[in-house]
Amino acid sequence: MEQIDIKSLTKEELTQEIVNMGEKKFRAEQLFEWMHKRHARNFDEMTNLSKQLRQELAQRFLFVSLRAVRVQESAFDGTKKFLFELHDGNLVESVFMRYQHGNSVCISSQVGCRMGCRFCASTLDGLERNLLPSEMLDQIYAIEVLTGERVSNVVVMGTGEPLDNYDNLLRFLSLLNDEKGLHMSLRSVTVSTCGIVPNMKRLADEKLQLTLALSLHAASDEKRRRLMPVANRYSIGELMDACRYYFDRTGRRITFEYSLVAGENDTEDDLRRLTALARGMNCHVNLIPVNPIKERAYVQPDRKAVLAFKNGLERNGIKVTVRREMGRDIDGACGQLRRSHRKASEGL
Ligand code: SAH
Repeated sequence: MEQIDIKSLTKEELTQEIVNMGEKKFRAEQLFEWMHKRHARNFDEMTNLSKQLRQELAQRFLFVSLRAVRVQESAFDGTKKFLFELHDGNLVESVFMRYQHGNSVCISSQVGCRMGCRFCASTLDGLERNLLPSEMLDQIYAIEVLTGERVSNVVVMGTGEPLDNYDNLLRFLSLLNDEKGLHMSLRSVTVSTCGIVPNMKRLADEKLQLTLALSLHAASDEKRRRLMPVANRYSIGELMDACRYYFDRTGRRITFEYSLVAGENDTEDDLRRLTALARGMNCHVNLIPVNPIKERAYVQPDRKAVLAFKNGLERNGIKVTVRREMGRDIDGACGQLRRSHRKASEGL
């Protein structure tokens, strides 16, 4: 029989399981708190449960706990990048960033990715598997334990496409928000998608208070298709409809992410088209000078060109920021750490 993943159960489901074992309900509360508030790393740490119960739990349930196999710290800004090993030996990476407004963690939602964006290192080897809700949570829990610091913001912007792992994402969000767990407000959470339109609409209907970031990266269908295979499936027109729907249902402003690639999407014409899209939307544009990966020839525009692009948008009344590049010295781009670690251990 496949073991149930205990850290992915809601409080109600956990209570049911515990009652089925012939235990009192309050044991479920103790367990939930050990896992989601105190970040216990195994059942044996749960010292107010009897040894016998701990043994029974260990037999019955899968207890997900990530092991840090590599930690890199940036010499510039204190950004830390963690490579975690999952219970089946797969690897995921997460990033801890310090900002003035608090600590932020960027988590992965899948092992690998099948979206195939051309500039992204996470997708080069395809999708291995979805992450469980517990494995998304545990990236945050493990980082709180390892750094000894509170995490106040979460961005689901690491490896993987969160809306390609929809059910697990929603369960993760609800556990993250649980008052008996980290109790994180979803206003402090950003979910980034390459634009899976039906699931953007489903998410809108959940009426959660999280920020939806759309990886736009090009303002015409033709250019977007060159950078992102998903653009063959959904047009920019459909994406804009989905964004508008998201805003209407949730009242939350959309973020457009736009990775600037020299000569690809940073021309006057690109600026004009992006301006037209952003003007019709309650949105914020986040420009990201592309993080070069060695497998592709994409390069960043120079600083002047990035600022000119930013100013062009601002002149038209569009809210825009250039993403601070954090941790460039530590395999900063998505999927690079996992990739370099695997290649090194395979002797490639
Ligand atoms: N699958 C989701 C989230 C993961 S990627 C998505 O597509 O949004 C998080 C963001 O980083 C996305 O906007 C993605 O397009 C961008 N990104 C990936 N690789 C990059 C690189 N090498 N340089 C700049 N941005 C990159």
